[in-house]
Parts: sequence; C-alpha cells; structure tokens
Amino acid sequence: MPRPIRATFDLAALEHNLSIARARAGDARVWAVAKANAYGHGLLRARRALDAADGFALLDIDEAVRLRDAGVRKPILLLEGFFAPADLAPIARHSLSVVIHSNEQMAMLESVRPTPPFAVFLKINTGMNRLGISVEQIGASLARLAATGSAAGITLMTHFADADGPEGVTAQLARFESATRGLALPRSLANSAALLRHPQARADWVRPGIMLYGCSPFADETAQALGLMPVMTLTSALIAVRHLAAGERVGYGGTFAADRAMRIGVVACGYADGYPRHAPTGTPILVAGRRTRTVGRVSMDMLTVDLEGIPEAGIGTLVTLWGEGLSCDEVAAAAGTVSYELLCALAARVPQTERA
Ligand SMILES: *Cc1c(COP(=O)(O)O)cnc(C)c1O
Repeated sequence: MPRPIRATFDLAALEHNLSIARARAGDARVWAVAKANAYGHGLLRARRALDAADGFALLDIDEAVRLRDAGVRKPILLLEGFFAPADLAPIARHSLSVVIHSNEQMAMLESVRPTPPFAVFLKINTGMNRLGISVEQIGASLARLAATGSAAGITLMTHFADADGPEGVTAQLARFESATRGLALPRSLANSAALLRHPQARADWVRPGIMLYGCSPFADETAQALGLMPVMTLTSALIAVRHLAAGERVGYGGTFAADRAMRIGVVACGYADGYPRHAPTGTPILVAGRRTRTVGRVSMDMLTVDLEGIPEAGIGTLVTLWGEGLSCDEVAAAAGTVSYELLCALAARVPQTERA
C-alpha cells in the first residue's frame, strides 16, 4: 500500500469556475491563467476542463509548446515574454502571444525580427512597479514595435497591485486610461480580483487565475460566496493515534502541550507534501469529515491533530487537508499565506487522481 495521501482533482468544478469567470467577463475574451503548472493542478489536465477559455496564459515556452503539442490551437500568452533572443524563434514558430515589458526585450526583438509576426501584449507599469514600461514610453514603444514588423496586433496591458484590497483599481485604472487615451488598441487589465469586484476594468481580455481553481482572491469574501467550487482536494489518513496526559507535549520543539488528557491523531502529510510548515496549532483540518485543528509543529512527513469529539477516529480514518469541505483559503489564512502558495506547492511525490 502506498502512503494514504493523495490529491484529487474535480475537473467539473474547474469547468464550472470558468463559466463564472466567463459570465463576469461579459464580451471580454478570457485568458485562463495556467502558470505554475496550472496553479499546481497539472497543465494538461487543467486544459481539458478549460475548453471554453479563449486562450491560455503562462510563463514558460516549454509549457506553451506542451500545449501546442497536445493540440491547442488557441492563443497562448507568455506573461513574462521572452528571456533571451534565442526564445524568439520558437515563439514565432508556435505562434505564441508575448508580453513585452521592457526596453531590453524590445532591443532583442529589434535584433532578431522574427517571422512570422506574433501578437504582442505591451505591458505598462501603472503602479505595481514590477514589470512594465513607463507610461511616458508608450508612444515610442509602439513606434519601435511597428518598425520591427514582428508584431501581428498589439494589445495594451497592465496589472493591478491591489484589486483584492482597499485601494482597488481606481488610481491605476485612471493612470492607464489617461496614458492610453486615443489609442485604438485592445486592452487587457483584470486578474480574478478585478474581474470579480471591478467590472469597469474588464476591457477586452481578462486574465483570471485563482478563481478558476476555486479559491477566492479576497481575504474578506469566501470562494463559496462567490459561487466557486474547489478543484484540488488534498486528503490523507491517520496512521497513529495516541493519548497524551496533561502537560505532555507534541512534536518538534514541543510547541504544543496538552492542558488535559487528550487524544491526538498522526496524519500522513507534512511539509514535503506541500503542507505549510508554518501552519500553527489551531489550523483547521477535517477528520472523518469533522472539523478539528492541528496541534504542534508540522514535520516533513506528518502532522498531528486534536481528536477531541471524534471518538470514531482511528488508524485509516480519512483526513482532508484542504479542498472539498474545507476551503484552501481558510487553511492558508491560518498559516499566514494565500491559497495560491498552497496550491502551487503541492509536491510531486503526492499521487494525483481525478474525480470520477
Ligand atoms: C498570475 C497573473 C494573473 C492571474 O492572477 P489571479 O490573481 O490568480 O487571478 C493575471 N495577470 C498576470 C499578469 C499574472 O501574472
């Protein structure tokens, strides 16, 4: 018998979440953002449920080529563009769409002038201060792009820093609009948070990621309230049960001490499976479908749970780390992070199955 841990993927849920994104997008076209191996869900698996998307957005040329080899003829957007001049030949050959965010990339394009031309998304920095040309450079960049003859269509793009937070999109959107006024070019602005909360930012191409995988981009609104369904469910089982006397401690560092006699369970799941090591005592977890809490430190291959009120729990009892019945968002929040990080961190050693 293998270790009892597994990740189960519900592709119908993925399809459902995409339909919610589609409905919110109105007339805009939808990039299904599938970077980081489709947020840990498996790129080619996710693709099968994302047929209704207008294209896929990811980072690596290799991943884009895997999609092309699997028969995907839709647009595929490289969100960070290319990294070296040698990347341009495969980009042109596979007709990938490409973000250009820097003058260095522009210079590479000018030196290679690849054919056939491909679609360019010109990324403009409007306040995120990560990638993007400055608003002052838009005119010059458009002229340079046109002169290369390598751009088959240009879309103007920006990325919001706080679409999920109190600042929203107002300031960046105003900056973008004033800098691009009068340019008759399509636009792409919205991530999941902007798509869900700021309909004025839908523009022509939206870029939802996390919502497709059934998690909420917001700290103050649950996935369930947004109508999203979890796609990845991480389960395992108890492999030991023990009784602690009052005062006895659990795990490395003895960070948790029983304040009275208690029963605890040992779960076959640790940080080497992708469970966050910094999840503190009290992180929610389901045992036999009942909600309880982790106790003590997460170790590499195991973690421990409080079995109070779950007398039926014994060796072999099903444990849900996150997914159906317990949102990954909640576990992430308890661990001081976001669901994105947990989903992407699912370890290669965890066996994966699809829900029938
Ligand atoms: C990851 C990413 C997205 C998707 O963001 P979510 O918050 O997962 O919806 C959109 N646009 C860009 C440029 C990204 O890098």
